[in-house]
Amino acid sequence: MAFESLTDRLQQAMSKLRRKGKVSEADVKEMMREIRLALLEADVNLKVVKDFTKRVRERAVGVEVLESLSPAQQIVKIVDEELTATLGTETVGLNKSERIPTVIMMVGLQGAGKTTFGGKLANHLIKTENARPLMIAADVYRPAAIDQLKVLGQQLDVPVFDMGTDTSPVEIVRQGMALAKEKKNDYVLIDTAGRLHIDETLMDELKQIKEIAQPDDILLVVDAMTGQDAVNVADSFNQQLGITGVVITKLDGDTRGGAALSIRSVTGAPIKFIGSGEKLTDLEIFHPDRMSSRILGMGDMLTLIEKAQQDYDEKKAEELAVKMKENSFDFNDFIEQLDQVMGMGPIEDLLKMIPGMNNMPGLENVKVDPKDVARKKAMVLSMTPAERENPDLLNPSRRRRIAAGSGNNVVEVNRMIKQFKESKKMMQQMSKGNMDIPGMDQML
Ligand code: GDP
Repeated sequence: MAFESLTDRLQQAMSKLRRKGKVSEADVKEMMREIRLALLEADVNLKVVKDFTKRVRERAVGVEVLESLSPAQQIVKIVDEELTATLGTETVGLNKSERIPTVIMMVGLQGAGKTTFGGKLANHLIKTENARPLMIAADVYRPAAIDQLKVLGQQLDVPVFDMGTDTSPVEIVRQGMALAKEKKNDYVLIDTAGRLHIDETLMDELKQIKEIAQPDDILLVVDAMTGQDAVNVADSFNQQLGITGVVITKLDGDTRGGAALSIRSVTGAPIKFIGSGEKLTDLEIFHPDRMSSRILGMGDMLTLIEKAQQDYDEKKAEELAVKMKENSFDFNDFIEQLDQVMGMGPIEDLLKMIPGMNNMPGLENVKVDPKDVARKKAMVLSMTPAERENPDLLNPSRRRRIAAGSGNNVVEVNRMIKQFKESKKMMQQMSKGNMDIPGMDQML
């Protein structure tokens, strides 16, 4: 996950103050020196670092802060507020158009994650607004991009307009726009071509597409892993094309996070979304205040709750609740549940969004091994339909067959069945409103 070492360093710098009863100007200066180094090491733009530390220092050495009863807490609050300001303060959503369709043009270098973002955005619009988007495949220089977009379109049941690779992107956009108007699509998402570097031909083409499509939003997609390069790319795109928003992808990776922290200040363009994985659901609306809390290791409960709501299929959850009550939870439900939990991404990343969990000792040991989940799934899939519905059928010889069929040994199969029975028992007790289950207190 991004920002890991930055979070550690910032927390270290601030925890020194917390241990002191009284905080002096020299203490603040020392803390600011450490924060400055931490930000530079995280690859944050030099000017952004200077501005940020200046603002925090000026506010923190104020008499009312240092003389207050809890100076350390107040200083953490100031750091949080100034970090939020650096990230843009307000949450800025998509620019909606009065006319139909709202047109969103996606630009960026090759490999930044533009096409993937197009799919994620379409999915987001369908889920949140019941939208009927049309995607236009105007990246004719990378033939795979068109196929990639078509595959995403099929997955989402969203139409993708393309004319292959022989027509000019400007013409494709012209015809795609006409089709969207005719079909009354409410959104048009234009996937444009990227290059390895910015060049004049690319910019000219994008300017022509902008002219024809009159987009409400020009979203620049940048890869967080490219650090300062992402900031430079954003700066040039903005100067030449005038972007209205930024999407930062791959924040799930091991990036130091400097790009995310610098882009808003350098370009003035708001960060609107962040990409946190390769799946269609790995998209988050960017909230500067929540991101600041996350960077400072103070957790981000709101995003966690929203993520759970979005990723967890409500209908399935209701069906599950009924099954729990009726005690008819079987192995088919068990694998479905495993799939849902895995779909939410690595558990350790989710836990870090809970305040205070970031520096919990032992958090690194809380890992759900996808291989372990896959093994369990293989065992369930080796059962007959009758066995899946009625676990009581699983006598020793059937267990041996399942072990052989799934490439495991009987001990593992026994362990999995035991675990299934225990969770079933626990669920049934919980569904009866009995929260007084042995072991429950340790879970909470
Ligand atoms: P494009 O050339 O800009 O259209 O880039 P693509 O959409 O083809 O993405 C390039 C690669 O980055 C693909 O392998 C994507 O799966 C991957 N990718 C895109 N967004 C993310 C993200 O948020 N996180 C991770 N880990 N990978 C991503």
